[in-house]
Amino acid sequence: MKHTLDHIAGVIGSPSTADKRVIEQLLLDSRKVYATATALFFALKGPRRDGHQFIPELYKKGIRSFVISTPVDAAAYPQAAFLLVDDTQIALQRLATYHREAFNIPVIGITGSNGKTVVKEWLYQLLHSRFNIVRSPKSYNSQIGVPLSVWQINEHHNLGLFEAGISQPGEMQKLEAMIRPDIGLLTNIGEAHSEGFAGRSQKLKEKMLLFAHSSLIIANGDDEGVADVINASGKRKILWGKKEANDVLLTGIKKEKNTTEISLKFPGEEMVFSIPFTDDASIENAVHCFLVSMELGEDSQTLVRGMRSLQPVNMRLELKKGINHCTIINDSYSADLDSLEIALNFLDQQTNNSKKTVILSDFLQSAADDGNLYPFIIDTLKKHRVTRLIGIGEHISAALQRIAVNETELPVIELYASTADYIRQFLSLQFKEETILIKGARVFGFEQIVQLLEQKVHQTVLEINLDALVSNVKAYQQQLKPSTRIMAMVKAFAYGSGGAEIAGILQYHKIDYLGVAYADEGVELRKSGITLPIMVMNPEVTAFESIVEHNLEPDIYSFAMLHAFQGFLENEGLQQYPVHIEIETGMNRLGFAVDDTERLADILAASPLLKVQSVFSHLAASEDPGEDAYTMGQYARYQQAAANLSRIGYPFLRHISNTGAIFRLPELQLDMVRLGIGMYGVDSAAVHQSWLQPVTTLKTTIAQLKQLKAGETVSYNRRGVIERDSLIATVRIGYADGYSRKLGYGTGKMHVRGHDAPVVGTICMDMTMIDVTGIPGVQEGDEVIIFGKEIPVQQLATWAGTIPYEILTGISQRVKRVYFEES
Ligand SMILES: *Cc1c(COP(=O)(O)O)cnc(C)c1O
Repeated sequence: MKHTLDHIAGVIGSPSTADKRVIEQLLLDSRKVYATATALFFALKGPRRDGHQFIPELYKKGIRSFVISTPVDAAAYPQAAFLLVDDTQIALQRLATYHREAFNIPVIGITGSNGKTVVKEWLYQLLHSRFNIVRSPKSYNSQIGVPLSVWQINEHHNLGLFEAGISQPGEMQKLEAMIRPDIGLLTNIGEAHSEGFAGRSQKLKEKMLLFAHSSLIIANGDDEGVADVINASGKRKILWGKKEANDVLLTGIKKEKNTTEISLKFPGEEMVFSIPFTDDASIENAVHCFLVSMELGEDSQTLVRGMRSLQPVNMRLELKKGINHCTIINDSYSADLDSLEIALNFLDQQTNNSKKTVILSDFLQSAADDGNLYPFIIDTLKKHRVTRLIGIGEHISAALQRIAVNETELPVIELYASTADYIRQFLSLQFKEETILIKGARVFGFEQIVQLLEQKVHQTVLEINLDALVSNVKAYQQQLKPSTRIMAMVKAFAYGSGGAEIAGILQYHKIDYLGVAYADEGVELRKSGITLPIMVMNPEVTAFESIVEHNLEPDIYSFAMLHAFQGFLENEGLQQYPVHIEIETGMNRLGFAVDDTERLADILAASPLLKVQSVFSHLAASEDPGEDAYTMGQYARYQQAAANLSRIGYPFLRHISNTGAIFRLPELQLDMVRLGIGMYGVDSAAVHQSWLQPVTTLKTTIAQLKQLKAGETVSYNRRGVIERDSLIATVRIGYADGYSRKLGYGTGKMHVRGHDAPVVGTICMDMTMIDVTGIPGVQEGDEVIIFGKEIPVQQLATWAGTIPYEILTGISQRVKRVYFEES
């Protein structure tokens, strides 16, 4: 189905146009531009950002079709078409609704608080060989995610799987119009994400709106609230569970070591199947998938086989350091067009290498390929400026051999029949300073390729959840006025999380400013492609040259520094160089005294060499309510200094808040805040910790297990005396990794298989011994969590008698950093 612009104008209610250009992609995010000629950009208005402001940038990139709600000067954009509507989000949803109505295919609508994505992906795994399925990419289930999902439906599809997620009342009705599910599936409704709702029953009622036009609802009927509303709906339903009143009875759950056998009793027959999972959430999700598949007429033998081979849903995209200065993106879990697009967007976010290689297996859609699949993939890779493609598999090889390769345009292409073939011919020198996306269906075992390309280091890793980082930044943004900017503090290797990687993500998410401690840190960021403005808090005279060479902005905190820098600029013949002025208000660290600010203002006003970007001060105790009087005194002194400095005759940004002040003292937010540890999931004031997510997890593994008898001793100086017969594990982390010796002798604990295991004896340089007595199933090689969700870094800091800042920044460089994104 082809949509032309004039036709779309009619659908979304904008003044008619005669423009017949064809639209294929809907574009909402100015960073995800790749196909320009056929894309239609919707200028959405959010609380902090207005899509209209990106129109010039998008026009420059080649976008020519726009939906807007604020008129623009069309004369400034030759050849561009603008469709004017009242509300661009509503227009987007109308278009999606219209598109959906054009297809008469069965659609499953999935909502609930937990499990939506897993159920959707499992249904895909179970049904994709029988149906041509269109489904929400990742967990695109929001007011703008659903339109994009629905927009993907085309003539080839004969089944749709769409998720619907809501955060406040009034949203579901709009999602329902776009999804129009025939079968409604309500997954676990839990307590999660209740913020926007008055209570559980309101949330449930709202979710039920998704099924307004469905002919069947499937849900777990053991939940009384759920059973009541579904029964009251008068619709056909399949309620399942242990309670007698259900339509399908869950009569047995037999958990083995790695599998669970599930028995269901239908009217008239009993069915038994196994899944390769043992947790309760998976069992519930599996029953939902089983019932939906039965309803779609799946043959029961095939279904039982499918259930047995369900794969974990791993939406993670991992970023690792590779051999020869490469960066690796590991996506060796799936190969389909939707997830390819997501992975390529992730690839686009990496700024450090210009060479991009993609290693790709046969695609799942190969079977139904009409000859267009691989040319389409090549085209997509080109749009994302991929420079080399390594294709592995028989389908991809055969298909690509048929495509005429135009050397100048297409990426370099290498083809191999199988993973084993590729590994046999693998040469590490073929890879150098590039970003490599490894993407393949599970059966191809691409994790072997990941292993070859990965930098081999110490087994202890610091995992960094980039989604959690972004979510934390958003949590802070929500507390700020829309006009207040954020300077993200990425000093000290971004609090141990990795400067370039973290800065790259922040740049992608359009943070306003970065702050580092020393010039070298800023230089590293520039070398990895960071173009955001960067403030250097502690510039040294010896670093002026590299500061200027890399366009970094020094913090000028004394007259001596001021004169030195001015002298340098004069010698270099530079003018209007951006700087920041720090005021001493009570931290007693760096800064001009308030009393000196009038004199400073006169010098700055007369100097053509410098351009003051901002004037700031640092709070000594913003996280401590007991010191609020002191903090407010600092604030008053700062305001005085800023008022004195306004005599320089041009505007500058004002900022004083760090993490501890943003949530607690919103009146101090001014023009900008400097966000540090909060980004990494630690509320230094510990009042709104629940608004944040932990970002980093430090983990290692068990190297050896030993059974020791009472009276034996462990580690140096025999200070770890065993009091009862014990099982002791040696784990691969020590003080050289940043695990403080203060955590020895039972003070610190590590997390193994769901249990806390105390440290025994003295901590060694590279190893630590922990007591794992009585932890069921513990084995050598097991994962051991040092801190993360299970043991908050704050807890570890308390044990070690320090603060989370020191723990995070003290993790040594030999610990490998692994970055990942999940939906
Ligand atoms: C480190 C630092 C921050 C960030 O502090 P957090 O408590 O981590 O938010 C802000 N401003 C200055 C001057 C800093 O040195």
